Amino acid sequence: MTEKVLIIGSGPAGLTAAIYAARAGLEPLMVEGMERGGQLMITTDVENFPGFPDGIMGPDLMDQIRKQAERFGTRIISSDVSRVDFSQRPFKVWVGKDEFVADSIIISTGASARWIGVPGEERLRGYGVSACATCDGFFFRDKELIVVGGGDTAMEEALFLTKFASKLTVVHRRDEFRASPIMAQRVMDHPKIDVAWNSTVDEILGDDLVTGAVLRDTVTDETTELAADGVFVAIGHDPNTKIFLDQLELDDAGYIVVSPGTTLTSVEGVHAAGDVTDKVYRQAITAAGLGCQAALDVQHWLEANEA
Ligand code: NAP
Repeated sequence: MTEKVLIIGSGPAGLTAAIYAARAGLEPLMVEGMERGGQLMITTDVENFPGFPDGIMGPDLMDQIRKQAERFGTRIISSDVSRVDFSQRPFKVWVGKDEFVADSIIISTGASARWIGVPGEERLRGYGVSACATCDGFFFRDKELIVVGGGDTAMEEALFLTKFASKLTVVHRRDEFRASPIMAQRVMDHPKIDVAWNSTVDEILGDDLVTGAVLRDTVTDETTELAADGVFVAIGHDPNTKIFLDQLELDDAGYIVVSPGTTLTSVEGVHAAGDVTDKVYRQAITAAGLGCQAALDVQHWLEANEA
C-alpha cells in the first residue's frame, strides 16, 4: 500500500502537520520516534503557547496535540525510522525491517541538545548534569550551579536558574558572549551570576551526584576546581538529520535546507518543518506553524502531481 503522506517525527511540527493532513483526507501515517513528542516532553511549564493562560506542562501539551491528530485518523507507529530512500518516487522509509512506501514525506525530526563530551558528563546526567533548566532547575533551590555556554540559550538558562540557585557561574570558552547584547548584559549585571571567561569545563566531578567541575583557563592553560551542585550544558542543539545525510541538501550545521518561505526540500515531494529546519526561532509555536505549512504544501503538491 502506498501512503499519501508519511510523517517522520512527532513534536509540535509533526503533529500539527498530521492534524492538517488528516483533516484534508490524506490519512497520514506518522513514525513518531522513540523520543515521542520531542523536546517538550522534557519541559515542565510551557507558558508561551497561545491558548493556555495558566501555562501547561510540556508532556500534557504534546498528549493533547497527539490526541487531536489521532481524532482525525492519523495512524502512529511508535518506533524510529532506520533508513530512507528518496532517490525515486514513491519514496521508501524503513522502520527496522518493515518497509513503507509513500507519495510524499514530511520530516519533523527536530533537534537535540548538544553535550560537551567530557568525563563525568554522561555518567552524572540526571544526577546534577542537565541540558534543560526549565525541566530541572527546580531541584537546585539554594544550590550553586555552573552553566556552560555563551549564546542566548546559555543566557536564558542562567537567568532562569537564578530563581533557584544561590550562586551561578557561567563558563564560556571566549572573552565575549555570542548572545544578544541585552541578554548578555542581564547576565553580567546579575548579582547572583559570575562569569568565568576564557574557560572550559574539562571534567565534571562527583560520585553519585555532581560536586563540582574542573575548569581550564584557555589563556594560561591552568586548571582549577569549582564546587557546584549542578552543571547545566547550554551550548546549542544539533538537528536530527543523520538518516537524511546522503538524501537531502543540508546546510553546514546539518539543518535541512528548504526553499525560502516554503517547506520544500531539495527533493520534490519531501517537505521538512520545525526545529530540523530552523535554528533561529526554535519555539513550539513556530514549529507548529511550520508543520501546518508543510501539510498545506504537501496537499497542493499531491493535487498538482496526481497521476
Ligand atoms: P549558539 O548561538 O550556537 O551558542 C552556542 C554557545 O555555546 C556559543 O557561545 C559557543 O561558544 C558555545 N559552545 C559551543 N560548543 C561548545 C563546546 N563544545 N564547549 C564549550 N562551549 C561551546 O546556540 P544557542 O545559544 O542555543 O542559540 C541558538 C539560536 O537560537 C541562536 O540564534 C539564538 O539567538 C537563538 N535563541 C534565542 C533565544 C531568545 O531570543 N530568547 C533563546 C535561545 C536561543 P562560541 O561563542 O565560542 O562559539
